[in-house]
Amino acid sequence: MKIVRMRPYCTGAIWGGKKLKARYGKEADFDVAEAWELSGYPGKESRVSGGELDGMTLSGLIDTFGRGILGSKAKDGEGFPILIKFIDSAAPLSIQVHPDDKNAKLLGADGGKTEMWIICEAEKDAYIYFGVKDNIKPETFAEAISDGTITEKLNKIYVNPGDTFFIKAGTVHAIGAGITLCEIQQTSDTTYRLYDYDRVDAGGKKRELHIEKGKIASCLIPPDHFYEKGERIGNENILVTCDYFTVSRVDVNGKSCVTVGDDSFSSFTVTQGSGSIECCEDRLRLKKGDTVFAFAGAGELALDGNMTVIRSKL
Ligand SMILES: [Zn+2]
Repeated sequence: MKIVRMRPYCTGAIWGGKKLKARYGKEADFDVAEAWELSGYPGKESRVSGGELDGMTLSGLIDTFGRGILGSKAKDGEGFPILIKFIDSAAPLSIQVHPDDKNAKLLGADGGKTEMWIICEAEKDAYIYFGVKDNIKPETFAEAISDGTITEKLNKIYVNPGDTFFIKAGTVHAIGAGITLCEIQQTSDTTYRLYDYDRVDAGGKKRELHIEKGKIASCLIPPDHFYEKGERIGNENILVTCDYFTVSRVDVNGKSCVTVGDDSFSSFTVTQGSGSIECCEDRLRLKKGDTVFAFAGAGELALDGNMTVIRSKL
């Protein structure tokens, strides 16, 4: 066995939408804001879905088959290195920032968080906030947070399906309303909320802000690039390569082969269409929203059908 289908860990939020249940096959008795498709985060792990390993977590797979299934690029002694999510926003997410590795240590966080987004669906005029517009002084930044004008200092970008954003740790950002996206990130669950539009939850309570830590974690110069245009290698379009992950898009139209080498596991997430994935004697049917984890060294995999697949690896 070299490929397994994963079942996500799902969470709700005040901003969550209905699309992940309606269109991406996610199951929960609440509106799903985030589906953690590939997660080794303690207590929030995704699990194998179906087959003889049904219900097994990623750490269970590592215990059973050895750390070699992660590949030679995985660092020893650390947890599962990346986290892949679907996120669906009916309302905007807070203006937020994540620490880099250095600040995570300094601030006692569970890890740095560089992330990237691939927009799957966007309602008309949907937008994100992505980094500061201009160089900004710490005092001016602090003032804009406290008087609620922080959004005026940020790049507001209208988005379309297929757009890809690379969000280095420290970039102040927010997903706006009406967006469904696939996020690939370092394994970390640390978000510092800088501004939450003064909104309240069903119980009339505001969510906690983390302004002091957020100010330390925030990068006050504009991002050096907005998004990766992609470089084509064979049938794969490389979207982002960084120290933490390499993410590509495979457009499957008929049969397409990809190789999973000894250097890293690969994760395949379907953002559009349907088809199948085959490795040796194993064949899994795929539909929009599905994620398959392939062990490092799985070798040649055949993707078949008509679908868009996001491949993530180290
Ligand atoms: Zn984020």
